[in-house]
Amino acid sequence: MAIRYRLAEKQKEIGEWRQYLHRHPELGFDTFKTAEFVQQKLQQFGCDEVTGGIGRTGIVGLIHGRDRTSGKVVGLRADMDALPIIEATGAKYASQNDGKMHACGHDGHTAMLLGAASYLAETRNFNGTVAVIFQPAEEKGGGGKVMVDEGLMERFSIDEVYGMHNMPGLNVGEFAIRSGIFFAAADTVSIVLKGKGGHGAFPHMAADTTLAACHLVTSLQSIVSRNVDPVQPAVLSICSFQTKTRAHNVIPQNVELLGTIRSVDLEVRDGLIERIQRISQSIGTAFGVQAEVKIETGYPAMVNSIEHTLHAIEAAQRVSEAVNDDMDIVMGAEDFAFMLNARPGAYILTGNGDSAPLHHPEYDFNDDAISSGSSWWVEIAESRLSVTEEN
Ligand SMILES: [Zn+2]
Ligand SMILES: [Zn+2]
Repeated sequence: MAIRYRLAEKQKEIGEWRQYLHRHPELGFDTFKTAEFVQQKLQQFGCDEVTGGIGRTGIVGLIHGRDRTSGKVVGLRADMDALPIIEATGAKYASQNDGKMHACGHDGHTAMLLGAASYLAETRNFNGTVAVIFQPAEEKGGGGKVMVDEGLMERFSIDEVYGMHNMPGLNVGEFAIRSGIFFAAADTVSIVLKGKGGHGAFPHMAADTTLAACHLVTSLQSIVSRNVDPVQPAVLSICSFQTKTRAHNVIPQNVELLGTIRSVDLEVRDGLIERIQRISQSIGTAFGVQAEVKIETGYPAMVNSIEHTLHAIEAAQRVSEAVNDDMDIVMGAEDFAFMLNARPGAYILTGNGDSAPLHHPEYDFNDDAISSGSSWWVEIAESRLSVTEEN
């Protein structure tokens, strides 16, 4: 194991930054205090340039190596936003912002990248430039996309980009990655069934939207099982079923269904959407109600480049003896996909140990993972901007 000694030494201090961030979670693009904290730290470390306000609260810090003209620019990205969850960890550093919580470990990601930035700014054992990128709104809103749209890659001449996320269930100090498609594309579906409504005692005089919606939810489940090639990953989950009435005897006029569509192949994605529309219309017709279907495009599939995945694996192997280089595709989504669409690179998972799952009120980032996570950032930066070899 090649944990950078300096980072092992700094683990406690980086953990304190993490716990500070955990205490003050912020949502979406409104990560103002977090950004201020990050910006101050980067300035303290002696970053050569620190730019804020990209994608509202996003920050880029540039750290030049010994010979900045002879290397490229490597981007390292962390996310800063929290979730609208009421914390139940009971930790002494628990959230002080009501109803907001760092339940996805972005506090840990920010702290680990800050730790790497402090090391790189101090040692400068590389050529070219490291761009540390701190983005808001990963959970919702596509902060990564907004930063890319605002010229992140061109403005800082970034050549390649890397990302990291913690993973509960994977041991601390272990890494997991795969080449090619790693995370799924996520789209949302909203279906409103509209009917005549009426008295629960006289169903023959109404058009029952609730019964139609029940049949629709069941029929939609035939899409993945009957219409998608069984070897292709696909998910359709209807997660919300709502009527506006709270009565025992009123057949509602409207029922709204909300769901998520996950896929990794464009043809499969188009097929899922086509079938959702067709089945919704057909069930609507059969039950005498109207079906309005709205599909919204979300994050695209996240694709690791083959070459850069190898670099990421090699860096991980220098930090850890346990690197899974052929992890299964994850049907979750990640807005780092937008950065990987703009520049080649790779995204890796690092173990969070036996913690509650991500987005759970009892989840907590594991501070013991800091030294290996920060060391990976340093390894990937120094190896891609090597002072001894051509890249
Ligand atoms: Zn999350
Ligand atoms: Zn996350």
